[in-house]
Amino acid sequence: MEIACLDLEGVLIPEIWINFAEKTGIEALKATTRDVPDYDVLMKQRLAILDQHGYGLPDIQAVISELSPMEGASEFLNWLRERFQVVILSDTFYEFGMPFMKQLGYPTLLCHKLNVDSNGRVVDYQLRQANPKRQAVIGFHSMYYRTIAAGDSYNDITMLAEANAGILFKAPDNVIAEFPQFPAVHEYEELKKEFLKASNRELSL
Ligand SMILES: [Mg+2]
Repeated sequence: MEIACLDLEGVLIPEIWINFAEKTGIEALKATTRDVPDYDVLMKQRLAILDQHGYGLPDIQAVISELSPMEGASEFLNWLRERFQVVILSDTFYEFGMPFMKQLGYPTLLCHKLNVDSNGRVVDYQLRQANPKRQAVIGFHSMYYRTIAAGDSYNDITMLAEANAGILFKAPDNVIAEFPQFPAVHEYEELKKEFLKASNRELSL
């Protein structure tokens, strides 16, 4: 059997930190793994900025509550789940991701966790494990599952490389140029076709 591994932010839902940065006007919160490649360094920076401005989890969740999955995301995910076992592998946190999971019909989500105190202050975070996306694919392979993965950015590359097939979806031009070994598409209809191409079974649209 085959497992489809999907990134979350930028593939099914908008970028949460960027939306929060826009809502609050805090420019420094727009930094992503593209600007700060070390995720640990980036997260420490984000938590320090939240503290500095007195924002906590409830403030971020208030912004999240106004966001929806990307247009066509639900339909795409349902299509995919009819044909593959789907697991979402994300560098977000359950505290951010679950409202979207509700809107997407609660697919399986593997991601990180925040430590929040009784006042809602984000005191720390727990990474699920090091290199979590790639490790999940390695785990599925150890169970003899074939894997097809799709993501949009640098933090997906090791997952795409480890999978039997990797697909870039809505990736920025620099990522596409840097990793020409992966097919790159921008619309869900094209992504469906890439999944069908990558499958070793006879599937149709
Ligand atoms: Mg992403």
